[in-house]
Amino acid sequence: MAFTLPDLPYDYDALEPQFDARTMEIHHSKHHAGYTKKLNAAIEGTDLEKMSIQQILAEVSKHPSAVRNNAGGFYNHDLFWNILSPDGGGVPDDSSDIHQRIVNAFGTYEGFQDEFTKAATGQFGSGWAWLCVHDPVGNLFITSTPNQDNPLMDDAPNKGVPILGLDVWEHAYYLKYQNRRPEYVSAFFDLINWEEVNTRYQAAIKQVAMI
Ligand code: MN
Repeated sequence: MAFTLPDLPYDYDALEPQFDARTMEIHHSKHHAGYTKKLNAAIEGTDLEKMSIQQILAEVSKHPSAVRNNAGGFYNHDLFWNILSPDGGGVPDDSSDIHQRIVNAFGTYEGFQDEFTKAATGQFGSGWAWLCVHDPVGNLFITSTPNQDNPLMDDAPNKGVPILGLDVWEHAYYLKYQNRRPEYVSAFFDLINWEEVNTRYQAAIKQVAMI
C-alpha cells in the first residue's frame, strides 16, 4: 500500500508571521510531496510495501539510500507539521507530564530552549533537531541528525523516539530568514503545540521499549 501525503492540520498561512505561507506551501506541497512520491517509487514491488513507516525506519540500514532519505523525509515532516500550531508556544502546562520531564532533564524550560537551540543551530548543513524519549521511564534527550535521518533509524548514533522535531534544512526558512537560522529557531518556540507533544510523550514511553 502506498504512502499518502498527509494534509496539514491548518492552512498554509496559519503559522504567520513566524512561518510564512509561501514557505509552508512549498515545503508541504513540493518537498513533503516529493519525499512521499519518491518513497513510494523506492519501495514499489518490494516487501517494504507491506510495512509501516516505523517498521521501515527500524531496519533502514539494510535498504538503499533512496529508501532511507525518503522514508525519513516522509516521517519527519509528518511529525513536524503536527507539533506546530497557530495557538502554540509558551511553556508547557505545569500539570502536564512533559513539563515535569523537561524540568527533570534540563532544569527549567529555558534550559530546554538553550540546549535545543544549540542542537538546531549547531547542526552543520541540512538536518533536524529533536527532543526524544530515551527509555520507558520517560527520560528525555536532545540530539540532531543530518539530512533526513532521525533517532528511530536502527543505525542512529543516539536512538530514541522523537516527540518534537525542527527541520533546519534551508528550504524550511530561507525565503523569510535567509541565512539567519537562529531567528527561525527562535520563532519555532512560539509555535510548539505542547498538548500534542505531551500526547506523543505518553505514546513514546510505551513504544521506546520496543525499539
Ligand atoms: Mn523540510
